[in-house]
Amino acid sequence: MNLKTAQKLDAESVFQTYRRLPLLIVRAKGNYIYDDTGRKYLDLISGLGVNSLGHSNPKVVAAIRRQTGELMHVSNLYLTEPMLGVAARLKKHSGMDKVFFCNSGAEANEAAYKLARKYSRDKYGAGRYEIISFHRSFHGRTLANIAATGQKVYQKGFEPMPSGFRFAEFNNLASIEKAVGKKTCAILVEPIQGEGGVYPASPAFLKGLDALRKEKDILLIFDEVQCGLGRSGKWFAFQRIGGARPDILTVAKAIGGGLPMGAMLARKPAAAAFAAGNHASTFGANPVAAAAALAVMDELESGLIDNAAALGAWTLGELNALKKRLPIITGVRGLGLMIAVEIKGDAAKAAAAMLQKGILVNAIHGTTIRILPPFTVTRAELDRFIKTLEEHLANES
Ligand SMILES: *Cc1c(COP(=O)(O)O)cnc(C)c1O
Repeated sequence: MNLKTAQKLDAESVFQTYRRLPLLIVRAKGNYIYDDTGRKYLDLISGLGVNSLGHSNPKVVAAIRRQTGELMHVSNLYLTEPMLGVAARLKKHSGMDKVFFCNSGAEANEAAYKLARKYSRDKYGAGRYEIISFHRSFHGRTLANIAATGQKVYQKGFEPMPSGFRFAEFNNLASIEKAVGKKTCAILVEPIQGEGGVYPASPAFLKGLDALRKEKDILLIFDEVQCGLGRSGKWFAFQRIGGARPDILTVAKAIGGGLPMGAMLARKPAAAAFAAGNHASTFGANPVAAAAALAVMDELESGLIDNAAALGAWTLGELNALKKRLPIITGVRGLGLMIAVEIKGDAAKAAAAMLQKGILVNAIHGTTIRILPPFTVTRAELDRFIKTLEEHLANES
């Protein structure tokens, strides 16, 4: 099949909810993906932060092959083994106590909201259910998650929003202190805002949230669906930034190495609020996804996270130097391999120009160029990205 045919079939039969780039991807290996014409692209998006080990990591592929021949699915009516290993490893690296498995970031966050409400209701009664999140945040596309997301654009047309969510300014303690009230049961935050444009929380901000947590028994929910599992340069972004530990932590994107998986983790005492029957997912803890996750964690444990930290720091340094040379660049943000370049110009045009040169980057919010490279990316590949970006932006200014 060629691109034209694929586009025609897509338009005829698939909801047109995505503004897709004109590419038909047919295979991928390592840090590169290939289209229907055989053209090769350096993938600096990693399937939106999913393929942190690059594409088709041999150990992940072998684990999936092995597991599909053993056991693919039986549901949570029974115990299966692969998820037990994933739970133990997630606990070890995060310091959390309990794990609930699901299949996506949105589901992990839904589980978090339910757990927070249940904990608060059991302890304080029905009037304490509000979750405060932040402007520019992103928490997923289900109805509760768009209500929790601090960007009107995702809510528009789907009102009324489910109640129980309010907003404060990110990295602004005065704002959150003002928003917290008698109804507040939890504060929901991405330690590094991703989709909103790559804004890391400051240590002082997280420390302030921790003080509110202690003073008012408000649960901290950290949404690390994008920034978790090594991308920040540590296992979890809250460990990299410091200042607070979450009561509830959500992960998804990178955990299954490309297979759908999500998880909601909680610490005591919040973790004790879920009892039998309180929550469930048919596909949650799927053995094949769990086997893939185990292989992903093996790889992360073998030094790849340090690679993310070192290459991220190097890239940020180079981009800041570029910013000094090119006034069209108005900002460089990031932590680890989660990086944004803000321009006084058209980010989509820049991304299209990069695509022409065989490099995939992501344009968001009109003026932001975002990259989420695999941790297997090399300095030479990142250098190629920076030089190509410089060439394009130099012609734009
Ligand atoms: C992607 C993302 C989600 C939603 O995850 P899905 O798997 O698409 O449901 C939630 N929170 C954050 C921070 C994300 O980046």
